[in-house]
Amino acid sequence: MQWQARFVKSARGLADCPRWNAREIAFAGRSNAGKSSLINALTGVPGLARVSKTPGCTQNINFFALNDGLALVDLPGHGYARMSQAAARRIASMIEEYLVQRERLALLVMIVDVRRGPNDDDLALARVSAERGIGVLVAASKIDKLKRSQKGHAAGRFGAISTRVIPCSAVDGEGIVALRRAIAGVTTA
Ligand code: GDP
Repeated sequence: MQWQARFVKSARGLADCPRWNAREIAFAGRSNAGKSSLINALTGVPGLARVSKTPGCTQNINFFALNDGLALVDLPGHGYARMSQAAARRIASMIEEYLVQRERLALLVMIVDVRRGPNDDDLALARVSAERGIGVLVAASKIDKLKRSQKGHAAGRFGAISTRVIPCSAVDGEGIVALRRAIAGVTTA
């Protein structure tokens, strides 16, 4: 399975999001969790998520169209230490508004560094989606950083956030095909 992905829009809030019928797969994660690297690995387009890192886009919701009526939605990274409190609040409420109100949202993929596990912000976002009946899938990133003997225990750290956990790595490609399959299998919106 190979997607054709293209950048569509950088939205400053819900009112600014595209009007279309695509099933949206949203990606959320703490800054530095590996969200951009994962988006690039999933789409096979190395520079794609760079769009979302350009000044002016990092605090926006970035939309990428895939084929098969799917869209990938890059939510701004939360919990960035050097961000002002006002900016952090603006981002948190924008993410929550999207998760609560966006009609086309079909799945939330939470990217969490497998070595760190979820923090309170991650858990709060997952809860908002679950309350609405939107499925939450954990992409436990940077699995290549764990020794083989540690890998077996990794998924157990994510029970509070979701029962669906896919350990993955943008570096060696582990879990990427499984993630693509899980995303492609999302049918409701
Ligand atoms: P973002 O802020 O969540 O978009 O995170 P980035 O994708 O920019 O990645 C943050 C840092 O983690 C960068 O230095 C990446 O090279 C590194 N990184 C991302 N994914 C992986 C991974 O799967 N394995 C390893 N070892 N490093 C990763």
